[in-house]
Amino acid sequence: MIVSAASAPSPTARISRRSRISRGPRGRAVRAGAAGAAALLFAGLLAGCSGGSSGPSKAASGAPVTHTAAPAHSAPPDDSYRRWGLDKPLAPPPKPPATRLTDHFTGPTPQIVRRVPTKDKIVFVTFDDGAEKDPRFIQMTKDLRLPFTMFLTDQIARAGRGYGYFQQLRALGNGIDNHTISHPNLRTLSAEDQQREICGQQDRLAKRLGKRPVLFRPPYGNYNQATLAVAGGCGIKAVVLWQATMQINDMRYATGDGLHPGDIVLAHFRGPHELKGASMTTMVSNMLRSIQRQGYTVARLEDYV
Ligand SMILES: [Zn+2]
Repeated sequence: MIVSAASAPSPTARISRRSRISRGPRGRAVRAGAAGAAALLFAGLLAGCSGGSSGPSKAASGAPVTHTAAPAHSAPPDDSYRRWGLDKPLAPPPKPPATRLTDHFTGPTPQIVRRVPTKDKIVFVTFDDGAEKDPRFIQMTKDLRLPFTMFLTDQIARAGRGYGYFQQLRALGNGIDNHTISHPNLRTLSAEDQQREICGQQDRLAKRLGKRPVLFRPPYGNYNQATLAVAGGCGIKAVVLWQATMQINDMRYATGDGLHPGDIVLAHFRGPHELKGASMTTMVSNMLRSIQRQGYTVARLEDYV
């Protein structure tokens, strides 16, 4: 059902463009035709959406009217969140604190952050590794103005479309940080090998981004004293762990059975191959619905840490 909602954007966008282009002496007739086609198309989409949640069906019935009335060069409609299966937009996060956790960094070893100290009902979303490079997720990020932090593993992120994909997400205001070169269990490595993994990725990311990351996430959350010493030595100020994990349909929690203020949510760049056929955007949509249902919104980790 959510899959249908997530696949809706392209036809919707196409219809919207078509109705705008068709202005002119005979625009009215052409637009009516386009609206008719739109209705048929939406009917088809709904037929393929067993159950029909409130999101897509409201979008379907409202869309033709909205697009006809909209100016030719309008920004994306404010209800674009509906394309992604949400019932309301993500609430804007509160004003971040004047100082961040890493502003107090004295070293030599980074601090461990499992949860961000705050009383606000906000959580922080992080995406790891960098395997799936779904172009629709870029549109989803734009439409929802979703803030998140990416922890990239070099050997995984550079495959396929490569870092260019993540640079596009970075251009939307999302941070790229360190998740090693080859995703090993660092506890099994000597300090020297850990240095190659952590500082090697620091160097590669610095070269690509023009900025040295200050956040590091150890693969599997596994680290030891050597990890902290090595990471601190090559510019890492905080080791970012997590309290909640994104699942295909919802979330799993380290403590209790729901979110807490300041929780860091672990998610991955994964696609249908790893998700039993679900897409990355479907999974993110399910996660955001759960976050909203619990009365939370998403804030930017770099504003706090
Ligand atoms: Zn990982």
